[in-house]
Amino acid sequence: MEGSVSIVKCQTYDEKEVLKALRRSIDLIGGINSFVKRGDRVLLKPNLLYGKSPEKAVTTHPSIIRGVIQIVRENGGIPILGDSPGLGSALRVSENSGIKRVADAMDCPIVEFNRPVLPPESKGRIFKNIEIDQAVFEADVIINLPKWKTHAQMLLTLGVKNLFGCVPGPRKALWHLKAGEDHKIFAQMLVDIYHMIQPALTILDGIVGMEGSGPNSGHPISLGLLLASPDPLSLDQIVCDLLGIPRESLLTNRVAFEQGLGMDGIIVVGERLEDVRIRQFKFPGLWRIDWNLPGFIKKALKNAFSSKPVIAEEVCKLCRQCIEICPPKVLKENEKGLEIDYGQCIRCFCCQEICPEGAITIQQGWGLKLVGGRQKLVD
Ligand code: SF4
Ligand code: SF4
Repeated sequence: MEGSVSIVKCQTYDEKEVLKALRRSIDLIGGINSFVKRGDRVLLKPNLLYGKSPEKAVTTHPSIIRGVIQIVRENGGIPILGDSPGLGSALRVSENSGIKRVADAMDCPIVEFNRPVLPPESKGRIFKNIEIDQAVFEADVIINLPKWKTHAQMLLTLGVKNLFGCVPGPRKALWHLKAGEDHKIFAQMLVDIYHMIQPALTILDGIVGMEGSGPNSGHPISLGLLLASPDPLSLDQIVCDLLGIPRESLLTNRVAFEQGLGMDGIIVVGERLEDVRIRQFKFPGLWRIDWNLPGFIKKALKNAFSSKPVIAEEVCKLCRQCIEICPPKVLKENEKGLEIDYGQCIRCFCCQEICPEGAITIQQGWGLKLVGGRQKLVD
């Protein structure tokens, strides 16, 4: 059931309830037999952005990890868990997020993604030389386990965006630099990574998601849903439907549509969309307007018509993680504190994504405030 997406209600992270909901969500799209065969090495790819407790909704919840390990094992698969967090090791993030405890109890190894290799056969349309971790190619099956969260740069991080974690740590900064200020190019890269990895199964943890200033400092929001699909792109489109926003507002969707992928033929099974729509959800603010202006005008108006990261000195604990992660190294420490060279800042918002204190907010330029007023989801 390639283009199908299941929607299952689940209001709690109680392990038994989650297991039941996971089984139902997978059964509705063909059952685990369609995805995992006896003896398969199954790589589980959660969202391990940052090591915060599960209640903060930054990482995929340990109950989901436990349930998926159990289901894979019951079918004779051999689960392994891996990711490349924004900063630090997968092991450390798993410890702080409660995932290591579950993985240890279930005897499931955690692998660090630190072996970059070029895909044996590049399926990317534009970006053909993206190095992915070798663990991805050693696995027979990939199960993608994203968390439903907002994202300052990409609006939302869901099934397709979660696969960016298969690019080993420091290489991620290079790809941010390569994409530069054009978020659509970054989306193209994400779509190319999706082509290369092609997970067999994606299960979205939307039991408690994150709204507002995601993906690290937003607010947990109880959504009560699990979504599963053989295709993360279809799943992302159904999330847009659930949130009542145009599917194209997610740049990865828009890029895929322009390539003739996606759009039609998604079959929703389980709950009916109209019964489980999310009526209240806070998106991150509008971050830029393009209007297809010539480059020199865009440059001149950059600060006015784009959003920028702003550091609240009173909240900052000077941990320097933002300095470390900033791809073009335009965020520096001086005698007064931290300073950003906005002329060179590529608006990737990696600094906001990684700040453990929520000290970096996204502020709209005056031009955006003038024309935007409130967030506009398709530019
Ligand atoms: S990551 Fe946040 S807390 Fe750490 S130095 Fe940067 S702004 Fe300050
Ligand atoms: S300052 Fe922040 S938004 Fe600007 S380039 Fe550095 S990490 Fe990206």
